Amino acid sequence: MTFPIKIASRLDPIKPSITLAVTAKAAKLKADGIDVISFGAGEPDFDTPAHIKAAAAASLEKGVGKYTDVSGLLALRKAIAAELSAVHNTKIEPDQVLVSAGAKHSLFNLFMALLDSGDEVIIPAPYWVSYPDMVMLAGGRPVIIEGKAEDDFAVTAEQVAAACSGRTRALVLNNPSNPTGAVYTQAQIEALAKVVVEKDLLVISDDIYRQLVYGDGKYVSIAAVSPELAKRTILVDGVSKTYAMTGWRIGYTAGPLPLIKAMAKIQGQSTSNPTHIAQVATLAALTGPQDCVGEMRKAFDERRVEMVKLLRAIPHVSCREPKGAFYAFPDLSHYIGKKTAEGAIMDDDVQLCDWLVEVGKVAVVPGSGFGAPGFVRLSYACSMQNIRDGVGRLASALAKLS
Ligand code: PMP
Ligand code: GLU
Repeated sequence: MTFPIKIASRLDPIKPSITLAVTAKAAKLKADGIDVISFGAGEPDFDTPAHIKAAAAASLEKGVGKYTDVSGLLALRKAIAAELSAVHNTKIEPDQVLVSAGAKHSLFNLFMALLDSGDEVIIPAPYWVSYPDMVMLAGGRPVIIEGKAEDDFAVTAEQVAAACSGRTRALVLNNPSNPTGAVYTQAQIEALAKVVVEKDLLVISDDIYRQLVYGDGKYVSIAAVSPELAKRTILVDGVSKTYAMTGWRIGYTAGPLPLIKAMAKIQGQSTSNPTHIAQVATLAALTGPQDCVGEMRKAFDERRVEMVKLLRAIPHVSCREPKGAFYAFPDLSHYIGKKTAEGAIMDDDVQLCDWLVEVGKVAVVPGSGFGAPGFVRLSYACSMQNIRDGVGRLASALAKLS
């Protein structure tokens, strides 16, 4: 018998991460010998570039493997401060940088340090699955505003203004967006910047995909709009996506010194420093040759074009052109409410995705996890062969619904 343990009530509203759950389900089916193609996790299929691995391997001979400064190695924080200062056209000091165990950890520390019970954070939907749950874990209240597919999922300044209350602390801006791949234009960023100042907000700029932008898309930094915006922007960034370093678990935050110090206090009482060897690898990633980034970006771009073309060829499926990150976010709402040959009804996108993985042998993430029911997310950070075969499976499975 299992001993009945009462779990803390702060977890009551918290859901498990659906992106990780779909990925784990596909991995389990594969381990059981079932041939599933997974478009689940947002994780590059590339190996970490050789020079980064070599730097980590060499460091093992030089005493790596100790605690470091809680905030991260000074040399690494200097490199991050230099890069972010250049990208965001503002002066960031190494003391304003906190290195954590992935950008997810950075965001968690951030919400814990920022929010009092009942403080509100505006989150544009479709959103990355973890923002609302992290805000709630920190005692805050996520306030969701909805970007429309026909506007390329961008939210407007008017929507942000209307969502503000006396408790609003911050706006989350994930640019390029997971899950939609949308990239905000200069005009959209400037309009949001204006309302941020008017409403006296902070911006949490999650830039984890900023180097993965394609075609005529261009990453525009909200911090670079003006010194006033730079003061109000908390930058969240990391190496997982850009350098195919998901498993190394390094992300970072740059922002106002008192906030970074508060976050470091939390980190010092929870995880201490992020892994020493992973920090060394990150330093090599940021300061070494950058051709690997361009090469991976080019491959993602080719896969993006192919995936979108194949998705658009499926009857009753529409798909906006993603301009950044590595996700396609097609609208499958036509298939909700339809029946399988055996008579099972697809009541919602979660059920549809369950059926797709079990019967269609293709794993995609339901849009409702991102606040966008009826849509699904497919990662194209996988091989061209998987894209062709997997979208083929999706098309054949959907054709069976009537
Ligand atoms: N932000 C966004 C938008 C993400 O998609 C992810 C995960 N892929 C993260 C943050 C966290 O990334 P990591 O913890 O691997 O740095
Ligand atoms: N962020 C990636 C994704 O959206 C990895 C999984 C996660 O951390 O949620 O798929």
